[in-house]
Amino acid sequence: SDRLKAGLSRTRQQLGGGLASLFGRRKIDEDLLEELESTLLMADCGVEATQHLIDELRLRWKRDRLETADQLQKALADGLHAIIAPLEQPLDAATHRPFVIMIAGVNGSGKTTSIGKLAKYFQAQGKSVLLAAGDTFRAAAREQLMTWGERNNVTVVAQDGGDAAAVIFDAINAARARNIDVVLADTAGRLPTQLHLMEEIAKVRRVIAKADPSAPHEVLLVLDANIGQNALAQVKAFDKAIGVTGLVVTKLDGTAKGGVLAAIARQCPKPLRFIGVGEGIDDLQPFKAREFVDALFE
Ligand code: GDP
Repeated sequence: SDRLKAGLSRTRQQLGGGLASLFGRRKIDEDLLEELESTLLMADCGVEATQHLIDELRLRWKRDRLETADQLQKALADGLHAIIAPLEQPLDAATHRPFVIMIAGVNGSGKTTSIGKLAKYFQAQGKSVLLAAGDTFRAAAREQLMTWGERNNVTVVAQDGGDAAAVIFDAINAARARNIDVVLADTAGRLPTQLHLMEEIAKVRRVIAKADPSAPHEVLLVLDANIGQNALAQVKAFDKAIGVTGLVVTKLDGTAKGGVLAAIARQCPKPLRFIGVGEGIDDLQPFKAREFVDALFE
């Protein structure tokens, strides 16, 4: 879509544009592949995915006798698609009621914003939503969620003070009593290096399972695309603590590091449920690998 294309313009310039400028000058040769390798690394594809893509392109250059920029671009797009396609696993929130989604990530990654966007997304599918203000460390986060809930007629379960586990436990019971479809549970932002906070979120997860043994049904990790390769360490650390079942990668619009999806796919694959390509309420989209690649290259 045009929206996605516009949102991805910086990564698009880095990859597609980089390729066009490489080809303005000459035919395919080893030097060109080497420059392309740098271009991919600069777009944060990571060493693994980049090597894989370059090997594949070299093979096709020789075997399929690629000559033109268009042919190479198409081969690159195909290669990238093959890498990221396994990440395309849409979230199905209809398997339980309430379907409990626990949301984690570092401060500023876009958790709260994404919760608002997700609430709208589920409402648009005719589902009722309840928010749990589980970021009990920052009063501002609770206020932000409550304001948002009031404005959009969505119930927010919050406590003055209190701990995250208790808030989310109450929220799940409230959702059950009201026959709510989806619970979006916020948690405080934390860095993987803050070990006591990683222990705390592991405890939150255990308490959620006490409210409903099948819950959480989804553990979403929100990642800011701007952190590039650091995303890999975050996925691994949060996965170890809470068992990440899905990713949201935000701010793909503000960055030239969209290649990070390829790095994630090769090095720590997790279903990429949604991507954020802007601050607007509709700028959180289910991830579609083909659309993503097309938006980068077409
Ligand atoms: P939190 O600390 O993880 O809850 O992060 P917030 O939800 O408060 O988001 C931090 C900032 O990132 C806010 O200014 C958001 O508007 C912005 N943001 C979140 N997602 C996106 C996105 O996909 N694109 C852009 N451009 N900004 C985003």
